[in-house]
Amino acid sequence: MSKSMIIIGGGIAGMTAAFRLKEAGIKVTLLEKNDRLGGALYSHQEDSYLAELGPNSILETSPLVTELIQNIGLEEDKVYANESSKVRYIVRNKKPVPLPSSPPAFIVSPLFSFLAKLRLIKEPFIEAWDNHYEESLSQFVIRRLGQEFLDYAINPFVAGVYAGDPDTLSVKHGFPKLYALEQKYGSLIKGQIKGAKERKKRQEVAKQSARMFSFREGLKMIPDRMMDLLGSDIRTSTRVKAMTKKADVWEIHTIDSDGKEQVIPADGVLYTGRITDLHNIEIDGKIPDEVAKMQYIYHPPVSVLVLGFRRDQVQHPLDGFGVLIPKVEEFQILGVLFSSSMFERRAPKDHVTLTIFVGGTRQPDNAKKSTEEILELTLRDLQTILGVNGQPTFVHHTYWEQAIPQYNVGYGKYKDSFDHLEKTYPGLYFAGNYRSGISVADTIVNSEEVTSRIKSFYLN
Ligand SMILES: Cc1cc2nc3c(=O)[nH]c(=O)nc-3n(C[C@H](O)[C@H](O)[C@H](O)COP(=O)(O)OP(=O)(O)OC[C@H]3O[C@@H](n4cnc5c(N)ncnc54)[C@H](O)[C@@H]3O)c2cc1C
Repeated sequence: MSKSMIIIGGGIAGMTAAFRLKEAGIKVTLLEKNDRLGGALYSHQEDSYLAELGPNSILETSPLVTELIQNIGLEEDKVYANESSKVRYIVRNKKPVPLPSSPPAFIVSPLFSFLAKLRLIKEPFIEAWDNHYEESLSQFVIRRLGQEFLDYAINPFVAGVYAGDPDTLSVKHGFPKLYALEQKYGSLIKGQIKGAKERKKRQEVAKQSARMFSFREGLKMIPDRMMDLLGSDIRTSTRVKAMTKKADVWEIHTIDSDGKEQVIPADGVLYTGRITDLHNIEIDGKIPDEVAKMQYIYHPPVSVLVLGFRRDQVQHPLDGFGVLIPKVEEFQILGVLFSSSMFERRAPKDHVTLTIFVGGTRQPDNAKKSTEEILELTLRDLQTILGVNGQPTFVHHTYWEQAIPQYNVGYGKYKDSFDHLEKTYPGLYFAGNYRSGISVADTIVNSEEVTSRIKSFYLN
């Protein structure tokens, strides 16, 4: 008899797992509470504008990401970001300045003062942290690179990736590769040079040099393809309420959008839903204490505003990936992606698409404002930063009430809990953006890792 697995959640983690387990001959049923598959992957096409409402692109940091796209048959539809997207702007003195991408460019860059550049010479001689307490990213960066580097490189970068705050994010859990560079090589600069060789051996690519891709019709091509491949194995509009184990069989209790309840038996169950929602699901008649605590993992709210403009309304050449905004510059938006410069087919002829992020840990209340209010504050900032004039020709607003899990100082206890729960409840597994990185690529790698464990347990 073939083994069966229930997968809770149809984001990238759940879809990857369902595809891999089905491929291995395990019977899968994927349960998704929304009426569409994809989770954060969500694209919207309207009037020749292609708006990404969640992630805009995926970084090819691991061969597992490349293989997955090939194996689901999307290789032909993949599009890499234009060469110009290597340029990233950071706002300094209210205007975008290119982030230097090489040591000579760094030396002449106006982004950092002479003293900040001089400070970097000290870095290789600073002792490695002795771990007598867990450092935040800010503490780590100030200690090794100085305050200005924190303000004008790390703070805007963290706002762009996590919508987060370096004062609370853990360097050990949120940026494990950065943390490991210091622990292993004693210095970030030395580690950067030596680590390159080891990454090559593992066929991994550093985030800063990984290629960025999407698809002809946006990232929604992944869930669309998974719908075709998994077909009747997927049940949308179906929420899981409880799971109980009877002898060796898990019974998954579901409710659909019409209120119809059902119990589905399976040999195992993989949870890939948002981790703060797990406490809504009873496990064997109770909510374990460690699960109850997970509801407090902070996910700041974020609003994504996709705006279209006629090209002649924007003075900036938009020759790059986008512009990130340091907190010290005191704007109301977190950053802007030059979406139609990155990828073709994002805007009609002679028009451009900009994707603006608002809120996050820095200004959570901004994310909660109405579309009109967010548009007003955004247009004010875009005028100053990019010389954008007049009203947009296209507006699409998406509100993410809980956008991205923050791996704050102390996050290690949650990571331990996932391992502990898997041991306490044999046959119950966890995968998703809460386990070993928040990006789409990290989530695919995590799902592949957990799926391999499931396969070796059930198939050997
Ligand atoms: C605005 C935004 C921009 C981003 N930008 C980028 C980017 O450019 N690049 C990048 O790499 N990453 C980006 N990310 C991060 C990345 O997209 C996510 O971390 C990743 O896609 C999460 O995947 P996941 O499968 O873990 O979770 P999700 O995508 O959240 O999927 C979980 C699914 O589980 C379902 N579910 C939950 N509970 C239940 C239940 N009880 N029963 C049934 N179903 C349930 C949910 O409805 C959801 O569909 C961004 C995220 C956001 C929000």
